Amino acid sequence: MHNDQLTFNQLPVIGIVAHRIQRDGNAGHIDGQYGDYSRSVALAGGAPILIPLALGEPAWRAIYARLDGILFPGGVDVAPALYGETPHPRLGRVDDVLDEAELTLARWALADGMPTLAICRGIQLINVAAGGTLYQDISSQIDGALLHACSDQPAAHLVRIEAGTRLYNALGAAECVTNSRHHQSIKQVAPDLAITARAPDGVIEGVEHPTGPFLVGVQWHPENLAPNDEQMLGLFRAFVEACQHTDTASR
Ligand code: MN
Repeated sequence: MHNDQLTFNQLPVIGIVAHRIQRDGNAGHIDGQYGDYSRSVALAGGAPILIPLALGEPAWRAIYARLDGILFPGGVDVAPALYGETPHPRLGRVDDVLDEAELTLARWALADGMPTLAICRGIQLINVAAGGTLYQDISSQIDGALLHACSDQPAAHLVRIEAGTRLYNALGAAECVTNSRHHQSIKQVAPDLAITARAPDGVIEGVEHPTGPFLVGVQWHPENLAPNDEQMLGLFRAFVEACQHTDTASR
């Protein structure tokens, strides 16, 4: 085999869930996602591919079966019924189609040990898929919480990271300053997940599967920082490295 072809074939393919972007007019929605997710995956050595939502299980499965890893991105709130709660007055927008698609993909990924990186809504979605719960609104449900809904601030608050975790090894640090664009967070951590990072107010900012395949979630947005921040790019590098060992033939 030619060397270029070998290198090309060895790039892990990483699915990023596309969200539905509503536009004015009659042309329907756009299946899309913020470019920093695919840019950060590509910078770390992966080949990103977007997964449209409105497909249904056979097509999702056909795409999923060809993936080496999957990334669950930020987005709207997860419907509280999915973790056994009624809506809080400060619940934001929800999207049942998005919830169904991402929960389906997340349950497959959890069952298979598909390498997974989950960001913002993604960490919440993965926690719900694995049996955990969420705070529906941090500022009204957690006394003394910092401001976590800080749009456009590259440095919003400190995050403390547990030594010895995948997240710690990927970032190479026990603490870092992150952006923060969320009004919800994990309440009860799913049974199989471990807390890896917290903000100084105790809000959970990271979880991972402690022993199994790569499953790392963070509450902040490393994809916005990674293009100019070697430390945050390290998280994508660790993810892509884990995806290089995926055996797609077993699916
Ligand atoms: Mn935060």
